[in-house]
Amino acid sequence: MRFDRLRLNGFKSFVDPTDLIIREGLTGVVGPNGCGKSNLLEALRWVMGENRAKAMRGDGMEDVIFAGTTRRAARAHAEVTLTIDNRDRLAPAGFNENDHFDIVRRITRDAGSAYKIGGGDVRARDVQMLFADASTGAHSPALVRQGQISELINAKPKNRRRILEEAAGISGLYQRRHEAELKLNGAENNLTRVDDTLDQLS
Ligand code: ATP
Repeated sequence: MRFDRLRLNGFKSFVDPTDLIIREGLTGVVGPNGCGKSNLLEALRWVMGENRAKAMRGDGMEDVIFAGTTRRAARAHAEVTLTIDNRDRLAPAGFNENDHFDIVRRITRDAGSAYKIGGGDVRARDVQMLFADASTGAHSPALVRQGQISELINAKPKNRRRILEEAAGISGLYQRRHEAELKLNGAENNLTRVDDTLDQLS
């Protein structure tokens, strides 16, 4: 599973549709200060389901929408599309039928985010799990933002362990275990309620 292309539209400084083509090997992005290099990495993290506005250097998630300049009006929505090359058939089950597929995240002012995989509507969780199962994602240690190296050096052991688990590809399993535990608790609560009702009836 490879990333083929990142398309930004109305995302931060990328007001016009812009494609970043990711070819085999190393892709370098160079440019003067403030030209949008970090915004590209943030767009990648965002389309993979990042839900912390702070990680996008904003106060709220809508801050990723192009805010306007003296010459251009602000936009009402932002959209990022990540095209996946899946010719190696390494995408998780359920998304593994096609050679290529798109993951799209769109945010509209006052309406929040919507996601699509391969043209179909999905939840944020589906996108996050797809990348977690592929051992990558918005929190992947492969995406290194400015200042992160010194944060890692000073990180608590528990946080370092999370990075190793992500690299080992088991963070998706943790998420599923947590969800299974919540369901189990819900089922146990329901059983207690049934017992109470039966007691009252007898
Ligand atoms: P450096 O090399 O200094 O780290 P950079 O190339 O990584 O810079 P970014 O930090 O990605 O640059 O881009 C910053 C630019 O993005 C600023 O000019 C900022 O005004 C612009 N920007 C950020 N959010 C928005 C937004 N919502 N709307 C319009 N422009 C935005």
